[in-house]
Amino acid sequence: MRMQGKSVIVTGGASGIGLASVERCLEEGASVVIADLKGSEGASRAAELDGKYAGTCLFKACDVTDTVQVDRLFVETVDELGGVDSVFNNAGIGGVTPSDEVSDEEFLRIIDINLSGVFRVARAALRVMYRQGSGSIVNCASILGVFGQSQTAAYTAAKGGVVNMTRSLAIEAAPKGVRVNAIGPGYIDTPLLEALDDEMLQGLISLHPIGRLGRSEEVANAFLFLASEEASFVTGTTLMVDGGFTAGKS
Ligand code: NAP
Repeated sequence: MRMQGKSVIVTGGASGIGLASVERCLEEGASVVIADLKGSEGASRAAELDGKYAGTCLFKACDVTDTVQVDRLFVETVDELGGVDSVFNNAGIGGVTPSDEVSDEEFLRIIDINLSGVFRVARAALRVMYRQGSGSIVNCASILGVFGQSQTAAYTAAKGGVVNMTRSLAIEAAPKGVRVNAIGPGYIDTPLLEALDDEMLQGLISLHPIGRLGRSEEVANAFLFLASEEASFVTGTTLMVDGGFTAGKS
């Protein structure tokens, strides 16, 4: 068991990549907190999963745009699970709007969740992990953190910010025993893609040399690696899980 006895928080853990990561960590012996919005399916997911594995599975309502809720998430997790060994900073939203039409409100909301939210969670994690002298933070970036895409200015700005913020945090945290990495998923078959029609999906599939969308479990496996001691000499990197999307054009 690769995460035996470890304590893990997954933001956005009620759905998609986050939920798959929660399950993989439980399978590997960890106790896991699903941190997601109050009205999400996080509570019912945690109730289903708790008791199925050796570790505990808890739900904690947490909106990553709210510093008070984020800080409380960490205080309560330390109280109940004894510490925080790994965090998957995964909560995020999409957003496709022509840049000449996007409102301040929409732009700032995407930044607030996908970039500032990642920082709030990382900051709270660092405070706990510095006290412990150990820990691993994994931020969810995207292929769109290293590639541009039309009509996604806010999303690409946020994800590009996550990639470079990960480097800065990693350098700062390394002397204190904490690793910080990111994952760059390609297009993954999750509810985030539900709004796309079949033609759009086929277009996206064709951009991945492997010839299909990714599965949430495939991203979860990358999280598990970076979260665990197997990645003990890996920090500041973004691991692309993208079916070859960013490898280049054929
Ligand atoms: P998903 O199925 O929609 O899961 C995202 C989760 O985050 C949802 O449970 C969502 O809740 C939650 N969330 C949204 N806003 C939040 C907030 N303010 N505070 C806390 N939780 C919040 O999407 P996914 O595809 O698994 O995406 C997970 C991560 O992967 C995101 O960071 C996304 O940008 C990234 N990613 C996804 C893809 C892809 O193709 N799917 C590709 C690259 C990167 P609600 O459902 O209630 O909004």
